[in-house]
Amino acid sequence: MTRKVALVTGASRGIGAAIAKSLAKDHDVIINFASREEQALEVLHTLPEGNHSIYKCDVQDHDAVKVMMEEIVKQYGHIDVLVNNAGITRDNLMMKMSDEDFDKVMSINTKGCFNCIQTVSRIMMKQRAGKIINIASVIGLIGNMGQVNYAASKGAIIAMTKASAKELGSRNIQVNAIAPGFIETEMTQVLHDELKQKMLDLIPLKRFGQADEVAAVAKFLASCDADYITGQVLVIDGGMVM
Ligand code: NDP
Repeated sequence: MTRKVALVTGASRGIGAAIAKSLAKDHDVIINFASREEQALEVLHTLPEGNHSIYKCDVQDHDAVKVMMEEIVKQYGHIDVLVNNAGITRDNLMMKMSDEDFDKVMSINTKGCFNCIQTVSRIMMKQRAGKIINIASVIGLIGNMGQVNYAASKGAIIAMTKASAKELGSRNIQVNAIAPGFIETEMTQVLHDELKQKMLDLIPLKRFGQADEVAAVAKFLASCDADYITGQVLVIDGGMVM
């Protein structure tokens, strides 16, 4: 039996790396990254046996995304799972936020997600099967001070998940989103202790989440156990938003 193929964007560290590791048990995995090749190679070397690879591509560049997916199809024959995980923050209070920081976050988080969904859809529609998993955030559901750009980008991902689930359902393509809460990665390491304590106070389970805990849900959504789930947002946040 041919192994399924999964492309994970922004998988050179953090949540993306954990998802790549988790899927690699029963998928051939392509680790996408934008700049840090060494980190992507480190992740590659930790994966269990399989035909895994790394691929440098900035998800903001629609043409480059098309070339990446064409090359994956040439090499592997199909793409069964796409995880849109690449994302950044550029936090600031709205009154102080620059156009550049607003546009950059929208461009990577939201337009990057669109570029990948649109391109992979053409491939998955021909296959009449596929799973797309978008990594959103609880901030896209509830907003947050200092993150108007990030909240907008993740709220848009949630809306895009639902719209594309409706468009692609008849072709047996499931599109779902995961909305993590506070997960311990490089992205959250930079936050100051006072803010971290404030977040912790809001979490009923009284701890931050781990990338592996997000990866476990992504693995479930990528599996045939989730064949009848589409257009949903699964929140993984220790109960912070309910
Ligand atoms: P990290 O900052 O640890 O990792 C981000 C990843 O995205 C890196 O692999 C980076 O690769 C990649 N990336 C950045 N820009 C691009 C680009 N233009 N094209 C392709 N890849 C890119 O983040 P996390 O692991 O914490 O977050 C992963 C996702 O989960 C993000 O979408 C984030 O918004 C979301 N999330 C995270 C939460 C958290 O608490 N950590 C909570 C909720 C959501 P490179 O270094 O090579 O550029």
